[in-house]
Amino acid sequence: MQIDFSKSPDGLVPVVIQDAQTLEVLMLGYMNQEAYDKTVQEKVVTFYSRSKNRLWTKGETSSNFLHVQSMHIDCDNDTILIKAKADGPTCHTGARSCFKTSYNQNFILELESIIRGRYENPQEGSYVDKLRRKGLKKIAQKVGEEGVETVIAALAETETDFINEASDLAFHLLVLLREKGVSLETIAQNLEVRHTNPQPPRGEALKLQ
Ligand code: AMP
Ligand code: ZN
Ligand code: ZN
Repeated sequence: MQIDFSKSPDGLVPVVIQDAQTLEVLMLGYMNQEAYDKTVQEKVVTFYSRSKNRLWTKGETSSNFLHVQSMHIDCDNDTILIKAKADGPTCHTGARSCFKTSYNQNFILELESIIRGRYENPQEGSYVDKLRRKGLKKIAQKVGEEGVETVIAALAETETDFINEASDLAFHLLVLLREKGVSLETIAQNLEVRHTNPQPPRGEALKLQ
């Protein structure tokens, strides 16, 4: 990456930090060449702090480090985007993001991340852990049941019931995806490929034959 540090008189470029998993914007900081080199080398985000007037490794006192997953440069080489994995809250107020909204508008990605966490560090007594222990067959069956319940609610019940059943279905599908090792990103990419290269859904294709 060829970053143009000379564009601003103080030799600093803005750096947007985005959560690699949930895609939330976590914070904005600045880097000079030295901070950038250190970040690239250590794969942990180091800024140049304008208030401290020195290099500042995010997490140096709180231990809430930002681990670099990927780095991107904008169209005219003067702004950096870093996708990172945060060890803990990124804002010094204790909020996950410095741009904290009252709720995460893309909570489904966060939920995917939470489920992955439960698989990696099983938590005794958690519902995800119970499902994980029961195994693939049981989880797949649960998706089937919730699918049927969603259909019934869609046809017969109140909007609240339908939202609840659809939520159950979405949750259990996320667990099934985790169990199968398939990410939501893979599903989204597959849907995007289909969108740009339209083919009838598989059921339709069968009916048409
Ligand atoms: P930390 O880098 O998390 O160990 O925090 C060290 C100090 O940096 C804190 O006491 C805050 O003053 C400041 N700080 C931490 N996180 C942020 C942030 N997201 N934005 C601005 N200042 C921060
Ligand atoms: Zn730019
Ligand atoms: Zn903050």
